[in-house]
Amino acid sequence: MREYHLDFPAPEAIGVPLLGISAGTELDIDLRAESVDDGVLISGTVISTASGECGRCLEPIHEEINQKFQELFFYESRVSDNPDEDEDLFVMDGDFVDIEVPIRDAVILTMPLNPLCDSECEGLCPECGEKWAQLPPDHGHESIDPRWSGLSDWKPI
Ligand SMILES: [Zn+2]
Ligand SMILES: [Zn+2]
Repeated sequence: MREYHLDFPAPEAIGVPLLGISAGTELDIDLRAESVDDGVLISGTVISTASGECGRCLEPIHEEINQKFQELFFYESRVSDNPDEDEDLFVMDGDFVDIEVPIRDAVILTMPLNPLCDSECEGLCPECGEKWAQLPPDHGHESIDPRWSGLSDWKPI
């Protein structure tokens, strides 16, 4: 078994539309490579920071990523017999394994489709776009029934 530690900036953004590790953000990866019968089992942990915005109030958010991943990379000789069945398998390229896809998949799996700054986030007032958290509890917008709007500037003299 061999252990590796890798530190490199993300070559491209990893994430979902509202939350992601942006390109250039440091990825901190601990990796173990273990020989098994059919190939090499790669397991590890990726640590990084994702940023994005709250799906309700659009406040910028930062989320720590600390995600394990594991993938078996088959020796090329083990898969060549059966190309149809092996489409989805990871295969070694000579002595190399491309860990980018397993890392990307693992990171994306942890990301919520609708990230929130706080699970209690109340979002924005649909009328004025201000955050509910910053508005007084009785905040509201008077709406005038359009049938009466002609009377809104009428004053009895
Ligand atoms: Zn929020
Ligand atoms: Zn409002």
